[in-house]
Amino acid sequence: MTYPIAVRSALVMWTKTNVPELSKVSVLMKQRTKVEETLRAMQHAGAGNLQVISDFDMTLTRFAHCGKRVPTTHNILDHRILIDEDCTQKMRALLNFYYPIEIDASQTSEQKLPLMVEWWTKVHHLLIQQNIQRDMLAQAVRESGVILRDGYEVFFDRLAELQVPLLIFSAGVGDILEEVVRQSRVFHPNVHVISNYMDFDDHGVLRAFKGHLIHTFNKREGALLHAANLPELQGRPNVLLLGDSLGDLTMADGVAQPHHLLTVGFLNDQVEERKESYVEAFDIVLVKDETMEVPNGVLKFITSGGGHAK
Ligand SMILES: [Mg+2]
Repeated sequence: MTYPIAVRSALVMWTKTNVPELSKVSVLMKQRTKVEETLRAMQHAGAGNLQVISDFDMTLTRFAHCGKRVPTTHNILDHRILIDEDCTQKMRALLNFYYPIEIDASQTSEQKLPLMVEWWTKVHHLLIQQNIQRDMLAQAVRESGVILRDGYEVFFDRLAELQVPLLIFSAGVGDILEEVVRQSRVFHPNVHVISNYMDFDDHGVLRAFKGHLIHTFNKREGALLHAANLPELQGRPNVLLLGDSLGDLTMADGVAQPHHLLTVGFLNDQVEERKESYVEAFDIVLVKDETMEVPNGVLKFITSGGGHAK
């Protein structure tokens, strides 16, 4: 079939920005045109100018699997080889009190911030009292039922192949997070983790948590303090950011003078209450989508152009 010139160029433009995954029913976008422009600009700059910054719990991991909630890195610690029944009960009581605050659409991040610090400080104190053995963490992860989103291998492997740094920025527990990624066989050399790390004594027993507490609503401080100094991220002004919480949007604040930023938000639960704020805040919102199909499609598009590799 022969198309007139104007139609042909329109088709070329469409083909150039086509990410078929963006047509999935789970995808919401406030400004599709802006997303497409950003995608084209990022494709033009290529993989050599790209870095990926991602949250971990309920972003790289699934929210639910076979009708059951998938554990977060903190929940994985809720295993009898690590903590006792009393500690479990106390951590659950804290979750029941503080989690509704974390996802309450009627409160600002600033209002929630001191309460989140209170929550995780209490949890860490409880954990420290349990004499957790470092040697037991791998078994707890294996038996936890934690699972990364479908298509995670493509995501991790492609980034490694192209030597695009993946910064995983988590308010969870770094030691557990690393073990999950390791057991999933995708802990490639391009993966960098900023999280809360356990401090073990000479006998491998948990005695404290290292550094300042990172929680959902202070990732900006963490980004400025840690991510800004990672040499692997220098000279890569384009950012693909993945998160499941509005607080995750500040993870890119450590990037000096970003050229293009594309944000993808997983909206896992409380969909009706939070849809509007997510669509306002993230460029692409994925509603109850347990897969990496859209991030993979976006990544494939950005890195398949003629951009110059480093
Ligand atoms: Mg999360």
